[in-house]
Parts: sequence; structure tokens; C-alpha cells
Amino acid sequence: MNLNIAHLFPDLLNLYGDRGNIQSLVMRSRWRGIDVSLREYTLDDPIDFSRADIILLGGGSDREQQIVCGRLKSIRDEFHGYVEDGGTVLAICGGYQLLGHYYETSEGKMEGLSLVDLYTVQKSPRLISNVVMENEDFPCEIVGFENHGGRTYIGNNRPFGSRILYGNGNNGEDGTEGILYKNVIGTYLHGPLLPKNPHVCDRLLQSALERKYGKADLSPLDDRLEMQANRYIVGRFVQKKS
Ligand code: GLN
Repeated sequence: MNLNIAHLFPDLLNLYGDRGNIQSLVMRSRWRGIDVSLREYTLDDPIDFSRADIILLGGGSDREQQIVCGRLKSIRDEFHGYVEDGGTVLAICGGYQLLGHYYETSEGKMEGLSLVDLYTVQKSPRLISNVVMENEDFPCEIVGFENHGGRTYIGNNRPFGSRILYGNGNNGEDGTEGILYKNVIGTYLHGPLLPKNPHVCDRLLQSALERKYGKADLSPLDDRLEMQANRYIVGRFVQKKS
């Protein structure tokens, strides 16, 4: 078995160690005997969506997002086809915002990919915090770090974090964080996300393998260190229930 990971525009969208997400995907595959090939795409590279099993879009500043924005238009249709066909995507912060219809800032409106029905509007102050959240589809809390000026509104879509135990999430108002759409995870969580949330990493691997091979039996790994990091953040920011 093998997986092809496509990292889009890492020279522009790579904040707060987003690259660590790739390392988690690669190592958790290799530890299970699954081959991984990683391809990084810069802005002018042609992207072969038919070859990709997992696509990663990282976070970026408003300026970097603006640069990427123009390029996204030219790959929109193929990217849309990939998502609707069940392709796996992890989009973080700036990348997450660009999955939606637009990101409106004081400088103007950046057009997104419209792959997912959401939009983002910049407001003050920036939302900067550690985050602890739950989702009944995941076996334990998801932890991370957020730093964004944009407020994202996901309508009736499924959030990635359905209950925020600490932090702000999508907009600081509706108690949701990120989005789950088909095999797409969009989220504000940096940190990076996957090393401290092996259950999230495995969900991405699972969906990519199932799409490619029809099934995926991910053997369990020794996650003691990863879970120690996860539990530390939960214990630090969330009051223990007695
Ligand atoms: N520029 C976006 C915002 O401030 C995204 C920032 C990020 O990727 N951390 O909302």
C-alpha cells in the first residue's frame, strides 16, 4: 500500500510548524508498513489531482493568502472534483479560510475555492489561544493553538470541534471549531495539529486508504508520548470534572 501526499504551496502557507502535520502523516504510515511519497508544490507547478491521496493546505498571513488566492482559481474545478470524489484534505487556518467562498479583510475580499459552504470575515481582536475541544466522532479531546483575525461561519455544516472546552474556535460566538465535509478537515488549529492528536491523523490516513484500496485496517501504534502531550494540554486548560 502507498499514499501520495501533496503539500500545496508550503513556501507561502506554513505557519507555526504546520509542516509537523506532514511528518505525522508520513511516520504513522511508515510505522505501519505503508509507503508514502511526499510532493511539495510551489505556485507555478502543475498539480496532478488524480495522483493525490491526501492534500495539505497550511496557514498563512493575509498577504500570503492573497498571493495564493489567484492561483486557486485556476485549480478550482479539479480541486472540487477531488473533494466531491472523497479525496482527503487537511486545511489549516489560512488554508481553511480559502476552502470557503471568501475571506473579507479591511483590504478587500479574497475569493476562495468555494469547495465548502463557509465564509470568513476579519474582525478585531485577533483570536489567540490554546484550544481544547470535543467531537463525538473522535475518541478523545482534540487540542491545538489558534491565532486568527478571521471569523468563519459554517452555517449548517458539521463542525470539526462540536464543543469547545477552551478557546474561541470558528468565530468566538457559536461554540464551533473548523469543519468536517466529506473527507475534508478544515480547522484553525495549528500547533501543529496532528502530532498531539494521533486520532485525527489516523482518521485522515483511514479515509485516504479507504478511498484508494476500499478498506483500511490501521494497526494500533504505541501512542503513549503523543497522548501524554494531548492530556497535558487538556489538563492545563480544562477543569477536571470531579
Ligand atoms: N490570515 C488569516 C487570519 O488572520 C489566517 C492566519 C493563519 O493562518 N494563522 O485570520
